[in-house]
Amino acid sequence: MNMEREEAFRRARAWIAQAGDHHIDGKRVAGSGPRIAVVNPATGEQIGSVAGGGAAEVDAAVNAARDCFRSAAWRDMLPATREALLLRLADLVELHAAELAAIETLDNGVPYPMALAMAGKGGPSAIRYNAGWARRLGGEEAAPSVPGRWHAYTVNQPLGVAGLIVPWNAPLAIACNKVSAALAAGCTAVLKPAELAPMTCVRLVELVHEAGFPAGAINLVNGTGPQAGAALAAHRGVDKISFTGSTVTGQGIMRQAADRVTRISLELGGKSPVVVFDDADLARAVPGVGMGIFANSGQVCAAGSRLFLHDAIYDEFLERLAGFAGSLKIGPGEQDGTMIGPLISAAQQAKVADFVAGAEAEGARVVFRSEVPDGPGYFSPLTILDQVHPDMRAVREEIFGPVLCVMRFGAGESLAELIERANDTDYGLSAYGWTSSLERAQVMARDLGAGSVKINGSGMEFALPFGGFGQSGLGRENARMGVLAFTETKAVMIGY
Ligand code: ADP
Repeated sequence: MNMEREEAFRRARAWIAQAGDHHIDGKRVAGSGPRIAVVNPATGEQIGSVAGGGAAEVDAAVNAARDCFRSAAWRDMLPATREALLLRLADLVELHAAELAAIETLDNGVPYPMALAMAGKGGPSAIRYNAGWARRLGGEEAAPSVPGRWHAYTVNQPLGVAGLIVPWNAPLAIACNKVSAALAAGCTAVLKPAELAPMTCVRLVELVHEAGFPAGAINLVNGTGPQAGAALAAHRGVDKISFTGSTVTGQGIMRQAADRVTRISLELGGKSPVVVFDDADLARAVPGVGMGIFANSGQVCAAGSRLFLHDAIYDEFLERLAGFAGSLKIGPGEQDGTMIGPLISAAQQAKVADFVAGAEAEGARVVFRSEVPDGPGYFSPLTILDQVHPDMRAVREEIFGPVLCVMRFGAGESLAELIERANDTDYGLSAYGWTSSLERAQVMARDLGAGSVKINGSGMEFALPFGGFGQSGLGRENARMGVLAFTETKAVMIGY
């Protein structure tokens, strides 16, 4: 380990040991509930704790956000000032990237280089992207057809107080995105981190204050989903819930939101198809498909988890994919050279193992299963299954682990039939195609049923909206839409 990295982990450990309170109205609040242990999933050791917030802390945080939202200082703040504050926040995230990355690695297990890419590049880039929208959210002028002389136009006004509920799989990236979109739109917010990996959210909120945002603009309440999360989703003072997490929890939030018609954005699960044709550039497709399912140990909502592989390249591709998977070093994210870290928890580890055992019992073949390090960490083998049926649980349900289900196509099957198989899912978050045929690329882009279709690549682009069809969610994040999701559109007509 180099010195800089060692120093980042030393600072991260020291910071985690004393952090974990709520942040309400610009102040640290310890709260009254029992604290929740924060565990390093690579070792199973407790490294810190967070406050266990509930209704009382959520109420205080929402009130602080509302007071800030109503204050003249916030109302009158120029969009250019909000932009400048967000740009300063992005600089601070970049400046503290090594420490933030080490915190993320210790807290959720992600390998340090990936965490560093997120903290040093992805996070700041998302914040800067959203910052630019602060000054560009103007509405449009209409040409009314009703008689009279009118000035008719729309304005996009901030919704008010946003509740931002973040999951544990990529907390810093998701929090950077939600926090900056809400602030760019002119909302204030209460952030609820996931109890399994809360620490980078807490550090981010410290940086929000350091950047110069007023007290109450961003508040943070730690705690479990059923306590802090549910209290936030139910609070009368919350105008919008932006949630990323599992479909089941999202469904509950949607039901709760119905009472007051609270605005919601839901980024939920996925079971994304990947189609590889025999004309694909295999040198790119093999690592692309491999990282598409194994990166972050498969704990990615947009993971490509159902692979449709053309008959003519079936054996060769699987052999190369297994070779690629075998080259990915699994271990603690802190260790040099680690490409794949542990899963988030023992429960997640058991759940993933259960999916694989179930598929095997139903006749699936294990094409590849990697070795995992011994020890107390929640490691899970990278697993490639074939001879699976479309109705198996492992093929239908989101596993959220490093498990790829492979199906064969070709031999007399039309593109339309193949796309129908790829679309045979309750989800619709992402879809991936690998081909050098323009025709196939265009047809896949048109017909695959997903919020994002990527041909010959994987990964995310902030300038494009991200969200799901079907049970993958509601609404979009990123792009202009993602910021507008924190606004209400008002139509104005002035007669003269
Ligand atoms: P997972 O099941 O993968 O842990 P969840 O969807 O439960 O994912 O968690 C995502 C986020 O939602 C976390 O911050 C969690 O605390 C929160 N959460 C869980 N249950 C609820 C709930 N009933 N209401 C609001 N938020 C919740």
